Amino acid sequence: MNMPNRTCIMRLSRYRNAIIRLKALNFVRVFSDNLADAASVTAAQVRKDFSIFGIAGHRRGGYQVDDLLSKLSKILGKDQIQEIILVGVGNIGKALLHYPGFEKSGIRIVVGFDIDPTKHIADTNIPILPLEKMHDYILTNNIKLGIIAVPDYAAQQVLEMMKSAGIKGVLNFAPICLRESADCVINNVNLVTELENIIYFIKAGDNARSK
Ligand code: ATP
Repeated sequence: MNMPNRTCIMRLSRYRNAIIRLKALNFVRVFSDNLADAASVTAAQVRKDFSIFGIAGHRRGGYQVDDLLSKLSKILGKDQIQEIILVGVGNIGKALLHYPGFEKSGIRIVVGFDIDPTKHIADTNIPILPLEKMHDYILTNNIKLGIIAVPDYAAQQVLEMMKSAGIKGVLNFAPICLRESADCVINNVNLVTELENIIYFIKAGDNARSK
């Protein structure tokens, strides 16, 4: 099997979301064109992505919705609840803790950790515990996923602590680019640079129009 890259897996998530919407509209079969529109790619790209995972459609019949959904769910790890820990319960961390969209997608933030004792609450749905408890918690509960939402200067150290306890994948919201290693996949999300990027292109468009 060709190794799929990050963008391919992102597209699979988009296809899956589109299939869920189409299923809700009582579609029984879908075609690569339907999914291509949803993910802003070509139909050929959809078929290529699926072929990497051995998913084949029929020229006339397309793909059977339930079958495709269960295959994509399995590939994306949606066939089981993914438990995830969060470090840094500041503004972003709190927002993520309260975001209901994760649970709907089978992702559950099970605990938060913070160095600030005023943030600690043990007897709540999602407890917030001292950072010193993170290592044991990860090992005891066999957690593989983490979210980092600490300030930039603390992010690398938190990452090292996570990795030493066995975390294999991290979503990083700290405004610093963390490097991934062979033993840990990292996705960096910097909301400010994302907006800067959009702002640049709006301005570039304005400048081009005013010429
Ligand atoms: P707040 O309004 O709570 O200050 P913020 O998002 O502006 O939130 P940040 O300075 O970005 O605050 O810190 C985010 C959170 O990360 C805070 O709750 C802080 O206590 C916590 N934090 C800072 N350093 C660490 C660390 N090394 N390990 C764990 N948590 C940390």
